[in-house]
Amino acid sequence: AEDAVRGGADGAGLVRTEFLFLDRADAPTAAEQEQVYRDLANTFDGRPVVLRTLDVGGDKPLPYLAQPTEANPFLGQRGIRLALAHPHLLREQLRAVARVAADHPIGVMFPMVTAVQEIEAGRGMLEEVAPEGLSIDVGIMVEVPATAAKTAELAEYVDFFSIGTNDLTQYALAVERGNDSVAALADALDPGVLRLIDMVCRGAGGARVAVCGELASDPVAVPILLGLGVTELSVAPAAVPLVKAAVRTLDHRACADLAGRALRCATAAAVRGLTLPD
Ligand code: PEP
Ligand code: MG
Repeated sequence: AEDAVRGGADGAGLVRTEFLFLDRADAPTAAEQEQVYRDLANTFDGRPVVLRTLDVGGDKPLPYLAQPTEANPFLGQRGIRLALAHPHLLREQLRAVARVAADHPIGVMFPMVTAVQEIEAGRGMLEEVAPEGLSIDVGIMVEVPATAAKTAELAEYVDFFSIGTNDLTQYALAVERGNDSVAALADALDPGVLRLIDMVCRGAGGARVAVCGELASDPVAVPILLGLGVTELSVAPAAVPLVKAAVRTLDHRACADLAGRALRCATAAAVRGLTLPD
């Protein structure tokens, strides 16, 4: 957080809270989580901080949770699915989040959402634990192609969308993350992935659209994402200065022109070969 602020970050678009839950014998208490989230919020000093709720699953098991062995863990009980299957964990986390949100600009984001019922359940639990009258921004990650396709219908349930291009690329192109033998196929600038991002931007209505996957710090992608209508880029702390400097040089109309051409390409390589108009 200190590095990000020093680098000029306007906030934190993705705090991977699972790091608090991994490599230990039991789950962190609400008090322990509150302290960490509060420290983060204090470091960001009034800038918005988006806390993503626990995002673990079959591929990232927690020793203190009984989880079934899954043949395809990326298609199994991960993200919000796992959190809702263990409501005590999610409730304690949301309790900690709500305490900090009472005096800091905190947003909550649910991972791996595919269904309205998941948003309603997450929001319902947040309302249960938050003090009366406290309004907290709620968003979902768009990591599954069907979620992108349903953006317009999901928009009324959220304040913002954050596109997780790491998982969205994995699911859209059927290329498992971390599988070297198919890594060459996994370019998030594939026009098929860009079309999904376009759907989110066009369907979001009044909800904000961010990108928080690795694509947000790819210099070739930045003008295309802005041209499609993305208004927030969430990148690793070290990339903040470069990405901000790049954005400042861009003209929105030129980006929109570039994005339109990118959508009509047949390959990621062709997208990467495009140039901004003069
Ligand atoms: C993503 O899927 O793009 C994302 C940001 O989440 P993670 O990389 O933590 O799965
Ligand atoms: Mg993800």
